[in-house]
Amino acid sequence: MKIAIIGTGYVGIVSGTCFSEFGHEVVCIDKDAAKVAALCQGQIPIYEPGLADMVAKNMTGGRLHFTTELSEAVPEADAVFIAVGTPSSRRGDGYADLSYLYQAAKDLAPHLTGYTVVVDKSTVPVGTARQVARVISETNPTADFDMASNPEFLREGAAINDFMRPDRVVIGVENEKAATVLREIYNALYLIETPIVITGIETAELIKYAANAFLAVKISFINEMANICEAVGADAIALAKGIGLDGRIGKKFLHPGPGYGGSCFPKDTVALLRTVQEHGVSARIVEAAVEVNAAQKARMVKKIRDALGGSETGLTIGVLGLTFKPETDDMRESPALTILPALIEKGAKVVAHDPQGMREAAKLLPDSVIYVENPYEVCLGADAIILMTEWNQYRALDFKRVLATMNKPVFVDLRNVYEPNKMRAIGFEYHGNGRGHEKR
Ligand code: NAD
Repeated sequence: MKIAIIGTGYVGIVSGTCFSEFGHEVVCIDKDAAKVAALCQGQIPIYEPGLADMVAKNMTGGRLHFTTELSEAVPEADAVFIAVGTPSSRRGDGYADLSYLYQAAKDLAPHLTGYTVVVDKSTVPVGTARQVARVISETNPTADFDMASNPEFLREGAAINDFMRPDRVVIGVENEKAATVLREIYNALYLIETPIVITGIETAELIKYAANAFLAVKISFINEMANICEAVGADAIALAKGIGLDGRIGKKFLHPGPGYGGSCFPKDTVALLRTVQEHGVSARIVEAAVEVNAAQKARMVKKIRDALGGSETGLTIGVLGLTFKPETDDMRESPALTILPALIEKGAKVVAHDPQGMREAAKLLPDSVIYVENPYEVCLGADAIILMTEWNQYRALDFKRVLATMNKPVFVDLRNVYEPNKMRAIGFEYHGNGRGHEKR
């Protein structure tokens, strides 16, 4: 199959590369000329484990190309995937900004030649794919195409594996002709018995929001339970195990933390709330998850302040990890973007390290943040260390060395990575998240 992918962000570049790995001929298009020029040289604009090697292999194999020109890819394509960003609108009202998507639809329409399936892979509110089809038909009334929705569920940091071995593939189509093209594209996954869920377009669009909303609810639920644990003297880790082993509940997404972030959950939960409002229905559980998440970040600021004895003014706080989760350089909606400015505003000096996120973080955090290249430098003279993101390389630090260089021995572990007793035995005043049983 010949495939064109519009947008080479996390989703576009991973999808395009994996489709080429399946053996298809793929051209990825982006309007960002610098990004495309770098990709053509084999330089990957994002940090995603395994991606660079797979891009190089498929470029060498002649199955994967990058360009800024739709005319070089769309006319030949059997399917054109749109994978542009759909961020929250700049108006701040929570609606998804669909301008990139509609622009891509307008731009691609004149290039459609022969029967083509146009597939929306971006996360979009219900009804959007139908609007995209309208834009294409209005721009090119003779275009012979079917519209489809194929939401993406990959996780940054594990994107290749998620794409190559997904739990399921969701395909929203209106007829068998389009379904056949998409089945053929995903044949490699069908052969390894991946469930392929074929639905109508609206259902496919809503499945993506429902999945993200459910996971956001699960995270907010365990964060709220962790807070309850702290209040009543219970242990959130044991609680998560105790409920997670129930097959109906499941172990995943039951880790107390500073709140969910990233490029998907925050914007998708709020966009879903806007959609349901427009349709005169409610989603009160999702609403609560969003509120709990905002409160959780504020609660983490208070937790850090309390650990410092009630005030952070004039103190030095060392921060390990800035990205919203490990194995990505994505800083979008990272809890660090709320927590660190709140500490700085009260007069704290922040020294931070992140293995991949510092370049992006520097664009988004106050200028006063000091970035260091080595996690041990974070600890020099610090009045407290905050473990914000659970990168593997922070798991086995030499904590005696860390402690020896700190000004005060306060350690706030927002992700419950470390064993409290071991940290206390080393000499830290250790604060976990949801570990109320220790205060009894
Ligand atoms: P991104 O912001 O990283 O990348 C989008 C890319 O599209 C950019 O490179 C931009 O230059 C390009 N672009 C925008 N308009 C264009 C146009 N008209 N023509 C060509 N290129 C254009 O986005 P992302 O994180 O890959 O997300 C894409 C979509 O997938 C979003 O809807 C997102 O919600 C969804 N999604 C993201 C993830 C994730 O983990 N990042 C996972 C699942 C779904």
